Amino acid sequence: MTTITKKCRVCSGDFQIDDQDQAYYEKRNVPLPTLCPKDRLKRRLSFRNERKLHKRISDLSGETIISNVRPDVPYPVYHVDEWHSQDFETPYLESYDFDRSFFDQLYDLWKIAPRMHKASAGNEENSEYSNHCGFCRNCYFIFNSEDDEDCMYCRFADKCTDCVDCTNILHSELCYECVNVKNCYNVKFSDDCDNCTDSIFLRNCRGVKNSMFCYGLERKEYCFFNQQLTREEYEQKLKEYRVDSNGVLEHLKKSWDEWSKEWPRIRHIILNSENCTGDSIYNSRNAFDACNVTELQDCRYILNSRDVKDSYDFYAYGMETELCVDCVTIAHCYDLKYCNYCMRSSFLQYCDNCWGCENCFGCIGLKDGKFCIFNKPYSEQEYFELVDRIVECMRENGEYGEFFPQKFSMFPYEDTLANDYFPLASSSVLADEIGVGESVEIIPDLISEVGADLESKVYMCPVQGRPFRFQKRELDFYKKIGVAVPRMSFEARYLKRNELVPFIY
Ligand SMILES: [Zn+2]
Repeated sequence: MTTITKKCRVCSGDFQIDDQDQAYYEKRNVPLPTLCPKDRLKRRLSFRNERKLHKRISDLSGETIISNVRPDVPYPVYHVDEWHSQDFETPYLESYDFDRSFFDQLYDLWKIAPRMHKASAGNEENSEYSNHCGFCRNCYFIFNSEDDEDCMYCRFADKCTDCVDCTNILHSELCYECVNVKNCYNVKFSDDCDNCTDSIFLRNCRGVKNSMFCYGLERKEYCFFNQQLTREEYEQKLKEYRVDSNGVLEHLKKSWDEWSKEWPRIRHIILNSENCTGDSIYNSRNAFDACNVTELQDCRYILNSRDVKDSYDFYAYGMETELCVDCVTIAHCYDLKYCNYCMRSSFLQYCDNCWGCENCFGCIGLKDGKFCIFNKPYSEQEYFELVDRIVECMRENGEYGEFFPQKFSMFPYEDTLANDYFPLASSSVLADEIGVGESVEIIPDLISEVGADLESKVYMCPVQGRPFRFQKRELDFYKKIGVAVPRMSFEARYLKRNELVPFIY
């Protein structure tokens, strides 16, 4: 075999399918992709909305819920507990019509099959403003995180307590505005750090304590701009460099940006792995074009996943997952093709929101289904015969091998992760749940001047140009750590931090 060069159907750019890729697609018995890797990722990510939450009702109970699905979508949305109770009839299509296209028929089912109101691993305590989380207690606006307590505005936070505005943070406490850190305590405005305490503005430090504006230090204390000070000198600096004043803090952030841009970013970490390409890869073998992954084997184009084998084009989560091609939000699965949000399932194709299913094709919102097509069960023999005929038909009209068309997504593009990484040139401003007619206030410079009334007021984000509010416990946190109240909204703060998160496109 020789490398094939194809023209992407979306961007018209050339992309390569090498020997190894061809062998993989042949083994999986699927056609070669018609989109370049980046456009395939973009299409998958447009089916994943992590952070945009909306107030709506559960279409089963009529109760008000906080969901990642907007209230105006034409799909029935049930609270995740209601969905799992299966206290309702799952709709199905009576037969397969070979005179109509597969996607046309699937869309008929897509519009009527009930979905869960958000992604949740369950066991949430007092954390309804969350998504893609598990085992979180007293958390607010926390996403793709597990086992956290009293955290707010975090993404990829695991085993953390009392952290706010952090991304990629593990096993840490009392941290604020940190990215890619672990085992830290009371650290602010820092990235790429491990095992640091009581410090502000650190980058790439290990075991550093009581320090400010430092880069690449290991096991140091009382350092300032990488200079060793005495304890008394350092404490004097702390008094001068006040992070409790917004005016001073803004100035410090600028100095830090200026000073730190001289240093190389610690990126392209590939640790304890062999024959891998990408960024942030750990304990893996033969993983190519991968990013933020652990325990991968024989994979390509995999992002934000753990424990995945023999798969191509995959975004989150993995966890003992094998043989998946072009899938998003999958865990504990085996042999899935072109699926979205399926858990604990095997041998699925073109399935969405399916749990505990086996040998299903074109099923939506199905639980514990077996030998089902369009949610209707068949005998084992009928199932395989029909699937063969459907696939043959789909190959002829070019549908087989393509992920769901983007119009199928339950989320508008601007609500999805696709927009985080590949923003639309002119994304429309979201209608905010805050009344825009309310007056916009000025935030006091010092945290000590912030009164209890701040939370009842509305502020304007200078970056997003949208009004936002503060939560009481958020203000309590800023007071506790002695840092000025931020001027930007959560969303603007998140997007700024995201620039420090590794991404391969
Ligand atoms: Zn393309």
